[in-house]
Amino acid sequence: MVKTWDQLEELQPAVLKMIKNSFIKNRVAHAYLFEGMKGTGKKEIGLLLTKSLFCESLTDGFKPCEDCKNCRRINHGNHPDVHIVEPDGLSIKVDQIRSLQAEFAKKGLESLKKAYLIIHADKMSNSASNSLLKFLEEPNAETVAILITEQPQQILPTILSRCQTLKFQPLSPQIMIKQLVENGVAPQKAPLLAQLTNSIDEALELNTNEWFAQAQKIMLKLYEVLRKNPLEAMVTLQSDWFPHFKDKEQIQRGLDLLLLIFKDLLYIQLDRQEQIVFKGESERLNQFALQTSGRRISEQMSAILESKRKLAANMNPQLMMEQLVLKLQEGSSFV
Ligand SMILES: [Zn+2]
Repeated sequence: MVKTWDQLEELQPAVLKMIKNSFIKNRVAHAYLFEGMKGTGKKEIGLLLTKSLFCESLTDGFKPCEDCKNCRRINHGNHPDVHIVEPDGLSIKVDQIRSLQAEFAKKGLESLKKAYLIIHADKMSNSASNSLLKFLEEPNAETVAILITEQPQQILPTILSRCQTLKFQPLSPQIMIKQLVENGVAPQKAPLLAQLTNSIDEALELNTNEWFAQAQKIMLKLYEVLRKNPLEAMVTLQSDWFPHFKDKEQIQRGLDLLLLIFKDLLYIQLDRQEQIVFKGESERLNQFALQTSGRRISEQMSAILESKRKLAANMNPQLMMEQLVLKLQEGSSFV
């Protein structure tokens, strides 16, 4: 579904303010770099800017109407003067940039205006980058380029220097929760997803992911066993945890979940129930929170963060988890 100016403004107020001003002051740049994390609305806002360029009946001089021939064609991906270049396989190849240039050598089909978006601009091959650079060095008055990236440091500095950079902010958890619920995620589940990722797409994927549902159950079980019986915790590690959390990415995800459990306990102790993310487990968590101390929880959270660092530094995952389980059990309140 295509998002309107107002919906996108909620996601990225600072970026849209810049775009709005450039239209009002008639200072639209020849080349933009949109940089920011996955899921922050870069491509959608790139298309929005393109619609503002081509729209036949702008509102207030900057908002596209979403209804004219040009807006509709951009929304359907078939405007003859708007081109989108995306990686072909792993990279953007020089031929893709050359055919873009050939396209632009022709007169605009509908008017003199043309626009192009380069998605994952950091994935341009060296020759593609050099070819694009020449293109940017000879700007056509009516051409607008939008380069989109999550990794601006991978782009040639000579290209960056020719672009106006707009930085996209990570979405706040509140905005994420709202968007997730609008996209059909149960309100009970949205807060946890919003803590784990900044990307709406990734959160929606996790929401229906069997592995992730199972991961939560295993992690809660591990927590319960840890409290009751230290020896059993080692058995649970072997029987449940290791078979499920196989690669490094999965183990990091598991540790994030464990960390969020302790964070929830801390919020309960601080009487900030509205902040807890395991909403479905709040009754159980309230019980647990009665039996531990804030100081103890903080120590346990530090131990988990330390384990995350060790894992990132390539420590053996088996050893790392065993050490963590022992650490989590230290201290009388936990046994
Ligand atoms: Zn329009």
